[in-house]
Amino acid sequence: HQAKQPTYTPPPAKYGGRHTVTLIPGDGIGPELSGYVRELFRRNGVALKGNIETNHNLPSSHKSRNNLLRTTLDLYANVIHCQSLPGVRTRHSNVDIMIIRENTEGEYSSLEHENVPGVVECLKIITRSKSLRIADYAFKTAREKGRSRVTAVHKANIMKLGDGLFLECCKEVASGYPEISFDSMIVDNTTMQLVSRPQQFDVMVMPNLYGNVVSNVCAGLVGGPGLVPGANYGKDYAVFETGTRNTGKSIANCNKANPTAMLLASCLLLDHLKLHAYAHIIRSAILSTLTEAQLHTADLGGHSSTSDVVQSIMDAVQSAGPRTLSM
Ligand code: ATP
Repeated sequence: HQAKQPTYTPPPAKYGGRHTVTLIPGDGIGPELSGYVRELFRRNGVALKGNIETNHNLPSSHKSRNNLLRTTLDLYANVIHCQSLPGVRTRHSNVDIMIIRENTEGEYSSLEHENVPGVVECLKIITRSKSLRIADYAFKTAREKGRSRVTAVHKANIMKLGDGLFLECCKEVASGYPEISFDSMIVDNTTMQLVSRPQQFDVMVMPNLYGNVVSNVCAGLVGGPGLVPGANYGKDYAVFETGTRNTGKSIANCNKANPTAMLLASCLLLDHLKLHAYAHIIRSAILSTLTEAQLHTADLGGHSSTSDVVQSIMDAVQSAGPRTLSM
């Protein structure tokens, strides 16, 4: 006669199919020791982030924490896909541009000093290795996404050495991708062309600061900062956020912010984790809220609150239901 084995029932701390545990570090040696526990457990390498405010009045030695995160994790490729959305009225239609921005050097190297009072040097670092790396990322992305052209954006007529090197690296990488055409454009002309005929652009690759400016112009073209998600990829990590990285302090806690960009960033995160079916359901719910339900927040000229939009998206997700998932 064998004793009946007790059946094991796992504790109910399950969320989305995974156990979640809350860490309460406490005081004294608590934070230190629980830190080691966190180190021992495998990290996930993926994050969804809001923008962290950077105080302009701090000394120049104080680096932006957003920038520190990107450089520490070596998130070298910032990818922003600006695409016209049905249901969002803008001056231009059929915009479909992928911006690939070098995310770890260039003008964001935080190397500034005042030589003598009234004279400041601000260094822009362009390296061959990082330029080749981002150029290759751009061409690889173009190939994967079935795109036909990559445009390098630069100012090599003035910054002959720095931007000259960047451009050279792009040309070099382009020769390895014969099926993708390559051209280049000076940044000032680029911004003019973007606002007058944005449909001419396909994939664009550029150093850090131009990427910042161009991605903001492109986000504006398709409806603004509330709509466009952004991704930062490195070899080991990926961080998803809104494309234009705004803090939006003036509209915080007013139930006014457009939630679309952040929700679409979460879909990019799901895609990164290869949970494409979930990403698809959420994305479709976001799009139907914008187009069919026409629920628009104030930035799009509408009267809906953030929570109205989110509720409509949740309703659409629920009516799509888990039955449609085939992972
Ligand atoms: P503040 O942070 O005080 O809003 P800012 O100039 O730093 O001022 P940013 O955070 O850079 O503003 O944002 C630029 C503009 O875009 C602001 O007018 C902000 O309100 C708006 N904005 C940014 N994100 C959103 C969003 N998700 N929905 C609606 N408006 C947004």
